[in-house]
Amino acid sequence: MNDTIEIINCPACGKEMHKVYMTESGSSLDICLDGCGGIFFDGREMKHFDEHTENIDEIKQAIEGKTFEKADESRTRICPVCGNNMVKNNVSIRKEITIDECYNCGAKFFDHGELTKMRAQYATEEDRRQDLLSSTYNEIGAKIDALELQNQLNRAKRSRFLKLLDKLFLGR
Ligand SMILES: [Zn+2]
Ligand SMILES: [Zn+2]
Repeated sequence: MNDTIEIINCPACGKEMHKVYMTESGSSLDICLDGCGGIFFDGREMKHFDEHTENIDEIKQAIEGKTFEKADESRTRICPVCGNNMVKNNVSIRKEITIDECYNCGAKFFDHGELTKMRAQYATEEDRRQDLLSSTYNEIGAKIDALELQNQLNRAKRSRFLKLLDKLFLGR
């Protein structure tokens, strides 16, 4: 599949999106310059921009200094390429950045600011890895705490039960 050649309408606000040529990847992105400022990646385009080493300056330049309408982020969006419902997904470890994805054709839609937020979150891949490790570590830690608490409760129950048996059978 090649770039989406036809003009597509923004899945968030319905306005016609603009083709913005990216010299580094050699492909055009659809950006909602007249509406909400959202960025639409077709199934192949995203791979040029999701790594931290990849340059998103051209995207930033295209939207810099412009004001955009606020899009309703809670609504289900329809993929402008294939017409399927897009699915909301967390793209950050701390789960505060939600983008829309089309599982049918692989398209992704970022509301205005989400791409830069995602990229700004971790300066390096190492930062991202560290954060993933520490959040996984915290989750496991919380589970161990819960198990430990359960153990304590079980021990307390057992000792009460043994005391009850003592009372019943030994009379002490
Ligand atoms: Zn829009
Ligand atoms: Zn699609």
